[in-house]
Amino acid sequence: MKELIIASANRNKILEVKTILSPLGYKIRSMKEVGIDIDIQEDGNSFEENALIKAWTLADITKEIVLADDSGLEVEILNNAPGIYSARYGGEHGNDRENNIKLLRELKDVPWDKRGARFVCAIAMVYPNGKEIVTTGECKGIIAMEPKGTNGFGYDPLFYIPQLNKTYAQLDSKEKNSISHRSKALENLKKLLLGKEKGAEN
Ligand code: IMP
Repeated sequence: MKELIIASANRNKILEVKTILSPLGYKIRSMKEVGIDIDIQEDGNSFEENALIKAWTLADITKEIVLADDSGLEVEILNNAPGIYSARYGGEHGNDRENNIKLLRELKDVPWDKRGARFVCAIAMVYPNGKEIVTTGECKGIIAMEPKGTNGFGYDPLFYIPQLNKTYAQLDSKEKNSISHRSKALENLKKLLLGKEKGAEN
């Protein structure tokens, strides 16, 4: 069985990757499960670059196939900010509350029809022989006027999906995983692997 290590400590992400890629015959383990606890510097200029940086950092240590992702929110009228800085938009890394407050402040007085946004996810899978695969996925939505819902994390309470008449935070994890930027990037990866796996490993 092929070994695959995920460069993430996020339980939801790990579960999602396991659910989608296990049927392809991978034995999937998280960083924690292989006893690695490192903080990887994400200093790339795009989601793709950051995903590759994370994946190669761990691959260099483990010499195994590694999968990493990087994602964030792009708001059209803010010239695609916060983008790769999504986690620290409000100042402190990972402070979801501050991030959401800043986003609402930046969009104060911006009318509904100009609040278009998208979540983007890049996934990188790298192989000990130097090969790499990168896929992306996106989910389009609108930045709500006020937070709604309590599920999820990050900008979920502000990310409104018109087709569902709900924010990401009003969806349960199964519903979110069926439409999310991350699941689309993972499904794209799965398609690529199913078609090209032999080429990627050789
Ligand atoms: P990461 O690269 O997946 O860790 O995401 C970086 C940041 O983007 C997070 O800290 C969140 O602020 C935001 N983000 C990424 N994915 C999501 C999501 O599914 N919901 C809400 N926020 C997200």
